[in-house]
Amino acid sequence: MFDVSSPTRFDLNFSVAGIPVRVHPLFWVIAILLGGSSSPLLILIWIIAVFISILIHELGHAFAFRRFHVRSQILLHFSGGLTIPEQAAWGGGYTSVGLTPNQHIFVSLAGPFAGFAFAALILVFGSALGGSIIVSPLLGFISIPMLWMPAKLSFLNNVFTIFLWINIFWGLINLLPVYPLDGGQVSRAIFIQRDPLDGLVASLWLSVIVGGALALGGWFVFGSLYMAFLFGMLAFQSYQTLQAAKRY
Ligand SMILES: [Zn+2]
Repeated sequence: MFDVSSPTRFDLNFSVAGIPVRVHPLFWVIAILLGGSSSPLLILIWIIAVFISILIHELGHAFAFRRFHVRSQILLHFSGGLTIPEQAAWGGGYTSVGLTPNQHIFVSLAGPFAGFAFAALILVFGSALGGSIIVSPLLGFISIPMLWMPAKLSFLNNVFTIFLWINIFWGLINLLPVYPLDGGQVSRAIFIQRDPLDGLVASLWLSVIVGGALALGGWFVFGSLYMAFLFGMLAFQSYQTLQAAKRY
């Protein structure tokens, strides 16, 4: 089901609390592109922040799997992170792990909420160093907390802003009901639980509509090519899955 690229000799392999982590070399390229800065120091901070934040997000999923006695491994690659549960043998082949819908929802939410918890720790740490928490409006209608450090620690402003932005903003984006984002997994589990026959199709339509609306809004309202491309692609993928699902 997952397109996991095969190991390369430039992979970085390590494990956190017994959970194997593999970092594909292309992950670093994406981390650099996301930073989009011309200052080498800021690019370096971005890479470190993206690496740590995505790792924490995926560890949230992995520890949630472990809670339900499912082993998993983490892969950081060119389109972000992935926590892959160990497949269970089923008949002649393999199937995804036998979690209940509520366990699936818990595992999906554990990623974004690990990021929110990390952001909260940063806010506590920054305040302890004498920083003030300010609320920064984002896209006009949501506000996210940021830290403003005293003059002698002002070099930390960029570091904290990048970490808070990634962990809060990306966490919120991930909660949108668009497949295969975490929010899309949650809405799928809820829809299927309510209607085992047509729930999957309904969740895919929701994914097409919300993804399409965000692509259009991203382009026309916020002028963001990135948002338009990302959500346009996800909406289109959901539409394709919908067409395939109808044939059965
Ligand atoms: Zn996730």
